[in-house]
Amino acid sequence: MPVTVPALATPGSSEPFERTEIERRDPRPHDVVIDIAYAGICHSDIHMARDEWGRGDSVFPLTPGHEIAGIVAAVGDQVTRYAVGDRVGVGCFVDSCRECENCLAGDEQYCLRGEVGTYGGHDYHDGTPTKGGYSRSIVVDENYVLGIPEGIGLDVAAPLLCAGITLYSPLRHWGAGPGKKVAIIGLGGLGHMGVRIAHAMGAEVTVLSQSLAKEEDGRRLGADHFRATSDPETFADLGREFDLIVNTVGAPLDIDAFLSLLRLDGTLVNVGVSPEPIPYHPFSLIGNRRSLAGSKIGGIRETQEMLDFCAAHGLGAEIETISVDDVDAAYDRVVASDVRYRFVIDISTFGDRQGA
Ligand code: NAP
Ligand code: ZN
Ligand code: ZN
Repeated sequence: MPVTVPALATPGSSEPFERTEIERRDPRPHDVVIDIAYAGICHSDIHMARDEWGRGDSVFPLTPGHEIAGIVAAVGDQVTRYAVGDRVGVGCFVDSCRECENCLAGDEQYCLRGEVGTYGGHDYHDGTPTKGGYSRSIVVDENYVLGIPEGIGLDVAAPLLCAGITLYSPLRHWGAGPGKKVAIIGLGGLGHMGVRIAHAMGAEVTVLSQSLAKEEDGRRLGADHFRATSDPETFADLGREFDLIVNTVGAPLDIDAFLSLLRLDGTLVNVGVSPEPIPYHPFSLIGNRRSLAGSKIGGIRETQEMLDFCAAHGLGAEIETISVDDVDAAYDRVVASDVRYRFVIDISTFGDRQGA
């Protein structure tokens, strides 16, 4: 029999979250049942909950959450990867076709059939809507569950499952490392992990933030340089400076101005998802053989690699822990760029576990 567990849901795109109950399926042979300890708040949750991407694919009532960390509570009878008591995580997707060339290459996030989102998607087997981590437990196929290494707290590990991998993957793909100059646009949830990871990879890191308000934090997180994008001098000084720029901002930017900061053969990777198109002039690329690219989270193997990398370097997210009743207020603060640097919901604030 499916079980009913406490969760948060928003009934519509302009409504506050409510405490509710959702169903979790009986574990299938390869399923892992996870007691969720912490769920990070990603800006994508806000875009989805407020239906800001105009794709009409926000399914209400919506229970977001794809930065999930917890403990295995039960396993299906054919599970081999995890055992009860293991520290585990779940990121942005919970299934994919496993057969297409991208899945076979370990790039499940680009599955040709379409990966199944941790929330807002539909289960391949029975078509039920998926529901995310703002809830007490979740049931996920073992092949889409990550191991959280000892040494990283579950609270600071949760945001790695989206923010961490979304920056790790392009930094690895475009070769961030010693001798490379990397800029991160926006010091929010994704951006602060980008600074930590790029620094740990050995790159020279510059933060491009709207103001200098977070300069001290940026340097503590590992930035070598910190510049305000509101200051025109920044663009005058940094022309053709960077090998790689990762844009984490989820709003339209003057992308030509940022492209001008790339050196010959440099790449600007958009990971932020502006709700509106971002125009650019072809000359911004042509003049210096530059590339404009995009990148989406990371595959399962790469996500495990990222978690192991973060554990080896002592990296977690910098978090502010909140109760389940504070999510609406936290959303407003994220939208106002008032987040240092990830809100994480303490799932124990749903109240006593039944039978615990
Ligand atoms: P976040 O915590 O809100 O951080 C975004 C940062 O961008 C802010 O802290 C702010 O930094 C800057 N910013 C915000 N509004 C701005 C504006 N109007 N102009 C210039 N800068 C602005 O958000 P997040 O959770 O890191 O997510 C960022 C974006 O990435 C979202 O669009 C999200 O949907 C997307 N995302 C994409 C992927 C992927 O796979 N590609 C994965 C996860 C999230 P400063 O104050 O330092 O300027
Ligand atoms: Zn996310
Ligand atoms: Zn596939």
